[in-house]
Amino acid sequence: MRIAIVGAGMAGLACAQALRGHAVTLFDKGRRPGGRLATRRVEGLMFDHGAQYATARGSAFQAFIEQAGDLVAPWDPAVKHPRWVGVPGMSAFARAAEHGGIGSLHLQCQIRAITRDAEAWHLHHDGGSAGPFDRIVLALPAPQAAPLLAAIGHPFAARVGAVAMQPCWCLMLAFSERQSGPDTRTLEGGALAWIARDSSRPGRDPLPDCWIAHAGPDWSQAHLEDPPDQVEAALRTAFAEATEIRAVPHYAAVHRWRYARTQSPLGEACLWDPSGMAVCGDWCLAGKVEAAFDSGLAAAAACA
Ligand SMILES: Cc1cc2nc3c(=O)[nH]c(=O)nc-3n(C[C@H](O)[C@H](O)[C@H](O)COP(=O)(O)OP(=O)(O)OC[C@H]3O[C@@H](n4cnc5c(N)ncnc54)[C@H](O)[C@@H]3O)c2cc1C
Repeated sequence: MRIAIVGAGMAGLACAQALRGHAVTLFDKGRRPGGRLATRRVEGLMFDHGAQYATARGSAFQAFIEQAGDLVAPWDPAVKHPRWVGVPGMSAFARAAEHGGIGSLHLQCQIRAITRDAEAWHLHHDGGSAGPFDRIVLALPAPQAAPLLAAIGHPFAARVGAVAMQPCWCLMLAFSERQSGPDTRTLEGGALAWIARDSSRPGRDPLPDCWIAHAGPDWSQAHLEDPPDQVEAALRTAFAEATEIRAVPHYAAVHRWRYARTQSPLGEACLWDPSGMAVCGDWCLAGKVEAAFDSGLAAAAACA
């Protein structure tokens, strides 16, 4: 079977892996696979500015973690459910999936439209078209899948479009010297919701001392269109207040995730249209890496 998967985040990668043996082609608009499982490498520094860790509660994702070998490791093994992180960065989750075999991967290829003729599906991008495909899987954040579905008048468009996802502004800081204080903090009531010392994760260099701080969903929404330098200034002030770290970082930047976490999931593992289209992503089940993985597996089972 010829299968196209649009989106090479955890959902699309899990789907591709499960469909081994078919002619699978993955398309992603990013420069690397992994989606929100992302690592930024800049000026010799490394930041995990998207997903912070993954928990594995179900047997399927536990098996994936076991097979990933040295590409993942537990961070803070003392917690009840181990927090699995990629090594040396969160993007290693994508490499773990690739090692299992995912078919052919086309990066920097944004799918602008999907069409169906009497026999098959076709994808359209800035460089032309791809197809025919017997199955297509949209493994995208709901707000990015909905317009592709709406453009062909597909009945899933309304349900997918109704799933709300929340943004997240992320602050990245690097200090030459190690700063004192706990490695992670969960916060409430202010601009920031989460602070973590990136350098405390397994497989990272302890210096420079790299930190991540995530703004909460309400603050991120209220400041969604603010200029990045203004957001950086506000979040640096909030970081200094929360941590009492007053040293001047030698690197600072912000990243905006427009679709970071799912507010209220769909409540089904994936959507399946017997004419040969599946729609999946974390938002089907919960805003988590494991939910994205499980949703991708469900889409693969529907397609096979
Ligand atoms: C700041 C932040 C912190 C998080 N923290 C955690 C955490 O600690 N623990 C946890 O479990 N989860 C966390 N998450 C959530 C977790 O990252 C996601 O649940 C999971 O990675 C989603 O995977 P996905 O495959 O469903 O979507 P994505 O990772 O978003 O993948 C979708 C892919 O589709 C591509 N794409 C989009 N549109 C197109 C198009 N038209 N054509 C081609 N490609 C396209 C994108 O480039 C992307 O690669 C966090 C997320 C963020 C942003």
